[in-house]
Amino acid sequence: MLKPNPNYASLNESYLFYNIAQKVREYQINNPDKKLLHLGIGDVSLPLCKAVITELHNAVNEQASKDTFHGYMPECGAPFLREAISDYYKGRNIEIEPDEVFVSSGASDELGDIQDLFDKSSSALIIEPAYPAYVDANIMAGRKIIHFPSGENDGFAPYPDEKIKADIIYICSPNNPTGAVFTKEKLAAWVEYANKNGSVILFDAAYEAFIENEDIPHSIFEIDGAKECAIEICSLSKTAGFTGTRLGYTVIPKNLERNKMNLNSMWIRNRTTKTNGVSYIIQKGASAVFTPEGQKQIRENLNVYKKNAKILAEAFDSVGLWYCGGKNAPYLFVKCPENKTSWEFFDYLLNEHQIIGTPGIGFGQNVDAYFRFTSFGSEEETALAAERIKNM
Ligand code: PLP
Repeated sequence: MLKPNPNYASLNESYLFYNIAQKVREYQINNPDKKLLHLGIGDVSLPLCKAVITELHNAVNEQASKDTFHGYMPECGAPFLREAISDYYKGRNIEIEPDEVFVSSGASDELGDIQDLFDKSSSALIIEPAYPAYVDANIMAGRKIIHFPSGENDGFAPYPDEKIKADIIYICSPNNPTGAVFTKEKLAAWVEYANKNGSVILFDAAYEAFIENEDIPHSIFEIDGAKECAIEICSLSKTAGFTGTRLGYTVIPKNLERNKMNLNSMWIRNRTTKTNGVSYIIQKGASAVFTPEGQKQIRENLNVYKKNAKILAEAFDSVGLWYCGGKNAPYLFVKCPENKTSWEFFDYLLNEHQIIGTPGIGFGQNVDAYFRFTSFGSEEETALAAERIKNM
């Protein structure tokens, strides 16, 4: 008889967003005249920029005519998009060749799929709190997980610990949920650790476009030695509003080898087996993001989210609440007041101020005293929420 993957039985049930929705629905039924302010969502609220929409329309029209129609795309990505992404890196003085770039349908897909490159026995170190998919994907794969806590003492961006040995290392900077960023010095320490121990870093750069501080790396490949130990996973979801359109990219340097096996070549083999590429139309739309006009237009949307983050940060400052992030990231991770747990703070904010956020407990056991706010909501709701926080 077929035996299903037993690792699925080890997954924790995820009630977080279900419970939030239940509580919000109940509150709204009992208080139909109250306006709720949504600061919990991880999805963007602004549409795709004009340059992308124009290119999407052009690509749809091309598919309507025999002369310009495109069938299967190359599995690893269309050359025009791989080149555009390579140039994007070069614009920041990082030498990434087009054949080191793999176009994907998004970072989530890649974070799961990329595990095919590693033996089942490899352990995964996850800096927590973390984007929940890291833990769940590794549980599904039956891997040993090393839960590596971060906290206020290290600004939620820890250094490696030489005493702890791990094969795969997840680093997310700017971080979801904490909004923390890793400095060059901290990333250099992780790169040194990975090269010394033969580990591979999976660097999640989904929020790189939110970085404003010149000294904070946008890419792990700004660090010497990273091409020998790191894979970068990126996405246009938050950068350019592609959450529903879907496009991401993964960089695997040609220098990255372990046990005499080349991970770039292995990924080519994987992609040519397991996918027939990303839609031509979407890749064409995505290519517009990397044009000067596209870059200008996506920055206009990013500036709205950055302004929201600033307004929220000022509100927390004014009531003396400790928080991390909000500066180079769309997330603010706030310490709950009066020793409240994250669910108690959720109930207080909903019932007393009609503000919805996300309890920290959803991102790791060690952060039940924290609460995540996002800057992806509308400007109006964020400004109103900030006023209510100031009067808390
Ligand atoms: N990585 C992090 C840290 C995220 O927060 C998210 C989405 O919220 C993703 C990856 C997934 O991005 P995508 O929409 O490209 O799958």
